Amino acid sequence: MFNLSTNDQHYARYPSVLIDTFTLYKQISRQYADQNILNSIRQLVPDKILKLNSDALLKPLFQWFKNDFMSWMPKDPKCRICNIPLDIQLINGNSWKLRKTEVHTCGICGSKLIFPRYGEILRIAKIRTGRCSEWSILFGGILNALSFQTRIIHDYLDHCWNESMMDSNWLHLDSTLDYPISFNHPHFYEQNWGKMYEYVLAFSANSLEDVTQTYTEHWDIVQKRRRRKDKKNIEDFKTIYSTL
Ligand SMILES: [Zn+2]
Repeated sequence: MFNLSTNDQHYARYPSVLIDTFTLYKQISRQYADQNILNSIRQLVPDKILKLNSDALLKPLFQWFKNDFMSWMPKDPKCRICNIPLDIQLINGNSWKLRKTEVHTCGICGSKLIFPRYGEILRIAKIRTGRCSEWSILFGGILNALSFQTRIIHDYLDHCWNESMMDSNWLHLDSTLDYPISFNHPHFYEQNWGKMYEYVLAFSANSLEDVTQTYTEHWDIVQKRRRRKDKKNIEDFKTIYSTL
């Protein structure tokens, strides 16, 4: 082992956003192993879903979470009174617990919409709103609370989702999509959203894994893109993650 400073010259090419997300996902993974947090989260799930066996509960769980429990926070919300786009102000948070706060203000009536971007699962469960990161952080917690070993996945483009260990395989789950596309459709993003991946990473408590091949049908093109575009290195990612 050697001591790594993330300011080390060797790692200087890695932007702080990468370190910040690695820190967040490490903390998420720790929360996924915290029995007190999982017990609290389990209580959110309706009894009629908890009663089902593990084969039968995924579909109603996805549907409850997306349609009844969570709401989506648009990137460009409108004023509910004036129906015009709001002006956004970003306030930096001070740790992974509160990454930043978005304050959206109406230029006509002055009404405000405040959206804190939390990293603590129980806080997200309280405000029940967010974008793909909040949805996947919380949904991963719920799955872990229901004894599905689950991790968080980020594509480093603009999306994140989950994977759960089922029948000895990590399977794709995305609570923001409609069932059944939300379950085990790893090529959905590339086929429908035209994703041009470089790195899709999976985060567990003790490890970071390159799972890009799961999500692409064009692995050769992804590898060429990596070689052409950057000097990033998956071994560096793993080392940085291990020090956080
Ligand atoms: Zn207004």
